[in-house]
Amino acid sequence: MFSKIGANFYRRTDVKLTLWYILTFLASALIICGFLYFRLEHKLIEEVDRFILDEIKELEEILSIHPYDQNVLKSFESHMEARSLYPVYFRVLSENGDHFYSSSKFKEIGYVPDNRVRIKALNGKEIRENVRPQGRKKPYRVISAFLPVQGHQRYIIQVGTHLKFVRKSLSNFRSNMLILLPILILLGSLGGWFLARKSLSPIGYIASKAQHMTSANLSERLIPRGTEDEMDELIETINAMIARLDASFKRMAEFIADASHELKTPLCALEGEAEVLLSEKRNPDEYQEGLAHFLEQFRHMNRMINDLILLSKFDSRQAELKMVPLRLDLLLKDIANLFKVLAEQKNIDLTIRPLPEVVISGDKIRLQQLFTNLIDNAIKYTPTGSIQVALERDKGNVVVKIKDTGIGIPQEEQENIFRRFYRVDKSRSRETEGVGLGLSIVQWIVHAHHGEVEVESESGRGSTFTVYLPIHKA
Ligand code: ADP
Repeated sequence: MFSKIGANFYRRTDVKLTLWYILTFLASALIICGFLYFRLEHKLIEEVDRFILDEIKELEEILSIHPYDQNVLKSFESHMEARSLYPVYFRVLSENGDHFYSSSKFKEIGYVPDNRVRIKALNGKEIRENVRPQGRKKPYRVISAFLPVQGHQRYIIQVGTHLKFVRKSLSNFRSNMLILLPILILLGSLGGWFLARKSLSPIGYIASKAQHMTSANLSERLIPRGTEDEMDELIETINAMIARLDASFKRMAEFIADASHELKTPLCALEGEAEVLLSEKRNPDEYQEGLAHFLEQFRHMNRMINDLILLSKFDSRQAELKMVPLRLDLLLKDIANLFKVLAEQKNIDLTIRPLPEVVISGDKIRLQQLFTNLIDNAIKYTPTGSIQVALERDKGNVVVKIKDTGIGIPQEEQENIFRRFYRVDKSRSRETEGVGLGLSIVQWIVHAHHGEVEVESESGRGSTFTVYLPIHKA
């Protein structure tokens, strides 16, 4: 159980972020400390070198004045030995490496004569070395330099001193860092934990809100913190998603209420009619007339139920479209020809303008349904007059226009007619047996084909429905 809790702990984003933060912090602190350490070492050695070079310069001056006098070097040595803080050890070699003079303590350095150093010095190079006598911890710094002197003699001067203070300063630096680093890491970890918790706190808030969100409280929204950062953006995005869900839940509830109402009304009417019919003995003609009316109502209800099933399939994405390349001009011609008879019965002149050959990618059954609904509406809402079906190409689209000279749709109603169960005039639709679902189906099919549908209409003068569909690209 403990290991499970442990595993869950390490899976937490705030813990992961903090660990990453500590790791990065530690790595940066180590790099910075390392850099400072080497800089400090370099600077201190540079100081020691400067000091040794001063002494070399002094020896050079002495030797250039007294090139063959060892006594002067002896008095220089006693003067140097009097220094307690930075003792100076030196020796002077002739150009072939023979001893000319060596201070008594130069041996302490344990300098092993190296012929390469001598040759380099003779070539005028200044050689700086760290020397560690065998078996001793104490390192020394030795600089070898070549001194051309007037006359025939040439010397190599080697001056050294210990690095005790450099080591001490460096060891001080190390111990200070060892004290400081844990404090820095502790503070860094606390800062990292605080930052991680602070930046992730909205996620906890979002999660707790989301846990309690049901269809009953979809009107609630998350409150942005006002920081206008990514978290606020996330909250706004979630709010927009909740708003969409809320709207679609409301639409669904409205749809169910409307559907129930639409079904209930004819059922109640039928129940009343049946009760009246059965209230007394009637002759066969009356029963026949009643049954014929019932049949008409049943057909109407059946149509409505079919439309409802179709729309609910659209909503639940169960109505899959079988997209194939098809000749839209032929499809339109067939549908318009079928409606010609119905139009003639109503004395309406249905004309099909010459249709250019157009191939689109679409579902044949759904497209038939789309244009059937539009032409059917045109006939339904045109008492007398004419209907024109036209098709043309416009850039990458095909434009189908169904124009009638019927009763038209008032301006203020035009944006509503695609809503479910919306009828401009219910009493008028009852006569035409409309239930207000035809244009919703039209709009869904057009959108599913990545197209658009528009209406232009004037009350009393007629309507034009325009459908835009993308042309099929081979
Ligand atoms: P309905 O089944 O009632 O026809 P629709 O969704 O097909 O439902 O149409 C919605 C409303 O739009 C109709 O009730 C009608 O008032 C109006 N309408 C649709 N097409 C036309 C048209 N061609 N001319 C006039 N009104 C129309």
